Amino acid sequence: MRKTFCLLSVILLVSCSILQEKPIKSDSTEKRIDELLKTMSLEEKIGQTCQITLEVILKRNDSGVPISPATIDLDLLTEAIQKYKVGSILNVGYHTLSMNEWKHIHSEINNYYLQKKEKIPVLYGIDAIHGMNYTVGATLFPQEIGLAATWNRDLARRFAEITAYETRASGIRWNFSPVLDLGRQPLWSRNFETLGEDPFLASELGAELIKGYQGDSIGANQVAACMKHFVGYSNPMSGRDRTPAWIPEKYLTDLYFPPFKRAVDEGALTVMINSGVLNGVPGHANYHLLTEKLKNEWGFKGFAVSDWEDFIMLHSVHKVSESLEEAYIKAFNAGVDMSMVPLAPFYKDYCTIISAAVKSGKITQERLDDAVRRILRVKYLTGLFDDVEFRADDYPDFGSEKFRQASLDAALESITLLKNENNTLPLAKNTKVLVAGPTANNLVFLNGAWTHTWQGVDTNYNTKGARTVYQAFKSHFGEKNCLYAQGAELFFENGFEDTRLVDIDDYKSKLDQVDVVVLCLGEMPSTEKPGDIRSLNLDKEQMTLANLAYAKNKKVILVLLEGRPRIIRDIVDQSAAIVQCYLPGDYGADALVKLVTGQENFSGRLPYTYQKYDGIIEFYDHPKSVDRSKAGDFSAYDPQWDFGFGMSYSQVDYSDLEIDRIKLQGNDSLTVSVKVRNNSDKAVKEVVQLYLSDEYASVIPEGKKLKGFQKVLLVPNSETIVNFTISKNDLMFSDEKGKRILEDGDFTIFISKLATKFNYSYE
Ligand code: BGC
Repeated sequence: MRKTFCLLSVILLVSCSILQEKPIKSDSTEKRIDELLKTMSLEEKIGQTCQITLEVILKRNDSGVPISPATIDLDLLTEAIQKYKVGSILNVGYHTLSMNEWKHIHSEINNYYLQKKEKIPVLYGIDAIHGMNYTVGATLFPQEIGLAATWNRDLARRFAEITAYETRASGIRWNFSPVLDLGRQPLWSRNFETLGEDPFLASELGAELIKGYQGDSIGANQVAACMKHFVGYSNPMSGRDRTPAWIPEKYLTDLYFPPFKRAVDEGALTVMINSGVLNGVPGHANYHLLTEKLKNEWGFKGFAVSDWEDFIMLHSVHKVSESLEEAYIKAFNAGVDMSMVPLAPFYKDYCTIISAAVKSGKITQERLDDAVRRILRVKYLTGLFDDVEFRADDYPDFGSEKFRQASLDAALESITLLKNENNTLPLAKNTKVLVAGPTANNLVFLNGAWTHTWQGVDTNYNTKGARTVYQAFKSHFGEKNCLYAQGAELFFENGFEDTRLVDIDDYKSKLDQVDVVVLCLGEMPSTEKPGDIRSLNLDKEQMTLANLAYAKNKKVILVLLEGRPRIIRDIVDQSAAIVQCYLPGDYGADALVKLVTGQENFSGRLPYTYQKYDGIIEFYDHPKSVDRSKAGDFSAYDPQWDFGFGMSYSQVDYSDLEIDRIKLQGNDSLTVSVKVRNNSDKAVKEVVQLYLSDEYASVIPEGKKLKGFQKVLLVPNSETIVNFTISKNDLMFSDEKGKRILEDGDFTIFISKLATKFNYSYE
C-alpha cells in the first residue's frame, strides 16, 4: 500500500443513482401521482401509509379463531377501507389458503376500488419466502440458504420467476422477499432465510431474485420485491432474534450494505426495515440509514415498510420513545413510509396519531407526501390502478409439473456432499438401508418455517404427494430393502427445541438388519422469536443415534436437514458420508435419493463456513490474526468445513491459471483464465470460485474475499476455460469510517489451489 484514493466512491455513487432512476421513475407515472396527490385528503394520505393484517378483517368463531373457509367480515373491512382508508393488507390469518379463498378475499377488498367507492386500490403483501407458501398447491422450493448453495444465478432467477407467477395467480403483487441480510450469526433463528455469509454471493444471487420477481417491468407475471431487513438485523450479539447488533461502519460497508445496494441498483421497489437495533439505534428510528443513506445517497425511489408492530416497539420494547405518539412520529420521520401496524385497534390509533402529528407540524406535509408518493409509485408500477380483477385462470402453470421440476433442479444443485469416505456413495440399487432419525419421515423437516403456516410445524397442510426422505428412499430401494425407525423425536419444551429418544429398541434391532444407515438429523422448523436457540450443538439424543450405529460398525450416512451449521464435530469422523440438505423443499427428498444413488451428481457448495465449535464462530474471510495459533504459527482457523466447500463424484482438476497482465493501472481491468477439467466418466457441474487477497492495506485486509464464481457444466472427460474480469472496484474496501477506498499494492488471486499475483497502481 502506498497511497489511498477516495474520489472513486463519489463517481461510483453517482453512476449508481443514475441506474436507479431508470427502472423506477417515469414522467408519466410521476404526473399521475402529482394529479392524484392533489385530490387526496389528509385521512386518505395517512391511510396509504397504514398496513393491517388479514386477521383484522376476517370473520371469527366464538373462540375468536378465524372461521374456515376464510371469510371477510364486511363491517370490519368497510371500517378499515372506508373509514380509515387503509392502503395495504398482508398475510393469511394463520395458514395457507385455497385459490377460492384468495378469490373471495381479493374480490371483497378490491370491490371498493372497482365500484369507485375508493379511488386508490389496496396493495396486498405476502411472505412468499420459498415459493408461494401460502397458497394450497403452489410449488415449494429450497429455502434461500439452499438456493445460495446452488451458486447458480439462473436457478435463483427461475425460482423467483415461478414464485412471482404463483403469487400473481393468487392475486398478490407484492412479495416480502428476498432476505438480503448476511448469515454471519448462525445462532440467529433466520439464518436459513439468508443467502449465506458472503456479501458477493448474496449480492449476485440477490440481484437475480430481484430480476426474477420484478422482470424488466411488472407485467401480469411479476411482483414487487421487498429487500429485507435493512440493515444489520442478522447479526444480533446475543443470537436472539430482534436483539442489538454492533457492526462498525467498515463492516457495514464491506459486508452488510452490498446486497442491499446491489438490489437498489436492480430497481427493487420496496424495503422492509430491521426489527432489531444497530449500534444502539433501533432500525426503525435510524434517520441516517433510512433517509440519508438508502434514499438520498443510494437513490432508492420505492417505499420502506416497517416490520411487524415496529413503530409500536420503539416505545414498548426499545424504549427510545416515551409514548406511542412519539414512537410513531419518530419512525415516520426516520423515513419509514408504511407502518405494518398491523392489528386492531392499533391501526386506528396510528391513523389518529399521525393525523394529529401532521396537523401540529411534528410530521411535515412534505414528509407525508413523500411517503405517499413512494407508495403510489409502487401501486402504479404494479399495475394496480389499471386492473385489480382476480384472474387465477390466467395462470395455467400454477403448481405444474414443469414448476415442480424447477424446484427439484434447485434442490439437486443445492444439496452438498461434505464427506464420502471410500466411495460410500453412490449407493447400489440392491443396498439394504435403514432410514432413521427424527427428520426422516415428515415433510416439515424438508421445508422449515414459512411453509403453509408461519412456523411451518403444522403437518395438516403438508403438500399432497410430496415425499419425505423415508418415502423417497422406499420408492427407490423397495419396501423390503428399506427399513425405517424414528429413533428420536424433536419437539418444543418451554419454548425451546428439545429431543427425546423414541422406540430405541426398534432402532437398535433394525440396525442389525442392514449395512447402511441413512441417519436424518436436524432441527425443528422455526423462525423469528420462536426459533431462538441457546446453543449451536446438536442435541445429545441425535448424537446418540449416530453413536449407536457406529458401535455396531454400520456405514452411516449423515443427512442434515437444518437451516444453519449445527455442531456435529463428535460424530463426523466415524461417519462414512455426510450430506448437507439445508431445507430443500417439497422435492428435496427426491433430489437426495437421485444424488446418493448416483443418478445425479452433487454440485452444491456451502454458502457459509460450517462451524466446528459452539464457542468459536469464524468465517472464511477472516484477517490473518484470526489464524494465529497458540504456538505462534498461522493454523488456528479451524472450521468443520470451509465456505465454498462441496464434493462430487467427479475428479475435477484445475490448471493453467493465467492473467493477461501483472501490472494494473488506473481503470484497467484484468482478465483471469483457468482451465478446468473433468477427469471422470461422470458429468458434473463445477463451481469455479475466484478469491482475491490484498497483501497489505491501511486497514487490516481479509485473508481472501470471493470476487467471482461461475457454475460450469463439464461432460465426462472434458475441459473448459473459465474467464473472469477483475476491475479496480474489486480491489476496493472500506476504511474504519466506512469510506470506500482504493490502495495500490500487490494482490493475489486464488482459484482452487492455484494462485497468481498482480500489482495495482492508480497512476
Ligand atoms: C418478519 C418479516 C415478515 C413480516 C410479515 C415479520 O415478523 O420479520 O420478515 O415479512 O413479519 O409477515
